[in-house]
Amino acid sequence: MPAEQWQTELGQCIRTLGELERYLPLPNKAKLQQVIGNMRLSITPHTLSLINWQNPNDPILLMSVPHERELDFQPEELVDPIGDDAKSPVPFLTHRYPDRVLIYATIFCSLFCRFCFRRSKTGEANPGPGDADLARIINYLKSHTEVEEVIFTGGDPLTLLDWQIEEWLQQIRAIPSIHRIRFHTRVPVNLPSRITDNLIAIFKRYQDATHPIFIVTHFNHPQEIAPANIDAIAKLVNAGLVVRNQGPLLAGINDNADTLELLFKKLTDIRVVPYYLHQLDLARGTNHFRVPIKRGQQIMRTLQGRCTGIALPRYMLDLPGGHGKIPLTPNFAEHTNTNTWRLTSPFGIEVEYHEPLVE
Ligand SMILES: *Cc1c(COP(=O)(O)O)cnc(C)c1O
Repeated sequence: MPAEQWQTELGQCIRTLGELERYLPLPNKAKLQQVIGNMRLSITPHTLSLINWQNPNDPILLMSVPHERELDFQPEELVDPIGDDAKSPVPFLTHRYPDRVLIYATIFCSLFCRFCFRRSKTGEANPGPGDADLARIINYLKSHTEVEEVIFTGGDPLTLLDWQIEEWLQQIRAIPSIHRIRFHTRVPVNLPSRITDNLIAIFKRYQDATHPIFIVTHFNHPQEIAPANIDAIAKLVNAGLVVRNQGPLLAGINDNADTLELLFKKLTDIRVVPYYLHQLDLARGTNHFRVPIKRGQQIMRTLQGRCTGIALPRYMLDLPGGHGKIPLTPNFAEHTNTNTWRLTSPFGIEVEYHEPLVE
């Protein structure tokens, strides 16, 4: 069978410094070689076409092109920043919350984000779960009926072939206790041609009125929303899938209210619901992307007063050590007295709320 368009594009990704050098000068190649030895380089042709190479601070360039600062490890940075391994009862599965599990269906990605929190795993030579692992995962889910939701993550699960995705869906859908299936993927961002009619047909076969499939994408900047991306999202939404977006707050890329407001509104306009804005995890070599939490909260405070509520995500932190995610929502309410709250309006006005005293 001839390769599909998206597979051809995968074959055309930039994977070496030699290829990257055709787009921008690389003065310190020895160091960069070390960087991509820690985590591979791959940039898809679609994403390459959206970079403005004349601008050294182009947001998409900063997210995809390796930088020697990735070699600066901070003492607080961790190899497994959110404790994926600590809560893994069977290989390629993390079970942290009672009602849902993560499955690492592949460790491959079409583009390796330079701020990746799973950078110690993504892109390894390791091929991902095999048949025996899949059987073990299915058995685990069958005997753990409290699990209602499966989240395919990775790597990027939509880089798997159609028959592989169908095999996972068919086996998971056959377990009566599983109600919801999610795919966490950057394919609609970096490889929109992957959203083929056949992939859509597969999704449609494995969802019904009470068994939805969710796609959680990962757009970080309005410049990433190009016509091909809009088409890919429209196909997913028109097929009845629910599409949401999550991504990190990134220094010099999206850490200001104007950029995020535009991103969240553009996403809402293409029917993608902004879900989470993440505080960056403490992965090794990502400090140059990290934004102080105070600044993140200040940005969310600003957006609360000026951005439509249907476009506002929650600002989240995944606790180091595998303890789960918590909201870092800025605090608008302070309990000052037994029955008094001091409240700050989104416009900075202070107001008091008195509760009736309950005896
Ligand atoms: C992030 C995460 C989830 C998904 O959490 P939601 O808040 O439902 O998006 C599930 N399991 C693990 C282990 C996670 O790290």
